[in-house]
This record gives sequence, structure tokens and C-alpha cells, in this order.
Amino acid sequence: MKKIWIISLFPDFFASYFDSGVVGKFFAEGKLTLETLYLGDFSKKSFKGVDASPYGGGPGMVMRADVLKSAMDHIIEDGGYQSKDELHTIYTSPRGETLRNILAKDLGMISKDLVFICGRYEGVDERFIEEYVDQIISIGDFVLSGGELAVMTIIDSFIRFLPGALGNNSSALEDSFEDGLIEGPVYTRPSEFLGKNVPDVLLSGDHAKIKDYNHQKKLEFTKKYRPDLYKAYIDSDNR
Ligand code: SAH
Repeated sequence: MKKIWIISLFPDFFASYFDSGVVGKFFAEGKLTLETLYLGDFSKKSFKGVDASPYGGGPGMVMRADVLKSAMDHIIEDGGYQSKDELHTIYTSPRGETLRNILAKDLGMISKDLVFICGRYEGVDERFIEEYVDQIISIGDFVLSGGELAVMTIIDSFIRFLPGALGNNSSALEDSFEDGLIEGPVYTRPSEFLGKNVPDVLLSGDHAKIKDYNHQKKLEFTKKYRPDLYKAYIDSDNR
């Protein structure tokens, strides 16, 4: 992928996040471009607004399929795509597949440019989802007021796997989940804090011992904090 498009009612949310940290650096270096579109720009004067009340009644409002289509048409034209098939369009919703490390990695490998649709209110007219959405992703079993935080979370989670995103290229592979375990404790200066010392082995300079220690700590932490992962790890062949 070369470009990520985001369709949102609150496009300003994204600027400060995507200007900061390793993710911000990645965009600033032009390795990937991001363009956010304000959905309100695509509503017609004749009906004004991007949402309407649901057919069949019920609470809240629903985002209009025709307004979202106009935004997609703009992306196709402006981006020089032949059709929507040259894009991979993602909608975030509690009903989607749950974001996990492995899904983040898969997203990082998509060669098409991405479009993210940020839902608001009660969500998006189902007909738009049927016509345009290639993948639905949830960030967990809870309900947010909008898709923006989910989209930031999803983008952040896969950018770390793109070449050149993290300063130290190997660190994404050493982080939690990569080998089915979570990361152990980390320490820095001062070597003594409130009477507590950093474990001796980390100051020993013995790389083999440190590696062994770190692996033991990963096992310990996984058992303690994520017994579900620990069980899967013990039951699997990759240990
Ligand atoms: N009525 C919907 C919730 C709408 S919340 C329902 O009950 O399922 C408004 C928007 O927030 C959604 O359209 C979706 O884009 C976003 N959203 C809410 N929770 C989310 C989650 N767990 N993961 C990803 N997106 C979420």
C-alpha cells in the first residue's frame, strides 16, 4: 500500500496522532501518505446532512449510503483508481473480526491502498457495507461512540510491521505476542530505585544468560498475566 484514505465526520482527530512518534515519523518520511476526508463535504444541499433516521424506527441516526458513495467516488477519481476494486475498504464495527497481532500483520501486507470508513451514530446503511466494504474489523467487545479511535488503533497496529517503521527493525519481532508470549519486565537507569535493584543478570554483560533470563521472564509474565495465552503456548509445538 502507498496511501491510506480515511472518511470521517471528525477528520481533525487524526492530525495530532499521526504527526507524533514512530507512526508520525513514518508518514513524515513519505513512506506512506494519509488523506482524511470530511464526510460532510459530500452531502447534497437538497437533503443536507450525512445521516437520517432508521427505516423501521428505533433510536439514533444512520449514516447514508449515498453520501458515503459520493466520498468513495471522490477517492476513486482523485486517487486515479480504475474502480473501487483497486482499493481495500475497511469499516470498523463491533461485529467485525477482532484486531489481533496476526491481523495487524496481515493488514501490513495488503498491496492495495486502504480506505477506512469511520462510523458514527448507530452505524452505516447496510447497503453501503455490502457494496463497498471488503473487511470489517472490531477493536474489542465494547461499543465506541465512533470509528475514529478504532481506525487510529488499527493503523498504528500495522504500521509497526512495515519496513523502516521502527528504529530498531527487529524490535517488532521481539514485542509481545510475536512468539505467542507477552514481553517480560524492562528496566533502565537508575540501577537502584526505592531500594530495589535491577536484576544482576541484566548488568552481567553475559548475552546468553540475559537471553535465557528474558525468555524465562516472558514465560512467567505470560503465565501470570495471560493464562489463556500461556495455555495455548504450552499446548502448541512452537515452544
Ligand atoms: N449500533 C452499533 C454501534 C454503533 S457505535 C452496534 O450496536 O453495534 C458507532 C460507530 O463506532 C460504529 O459504526 C463503528 O464504526 C464504531 N465502533 C463502535 N465500537 C467499535 C468497536 N468495538 N470496534 C470498532 N469500531 C467500533
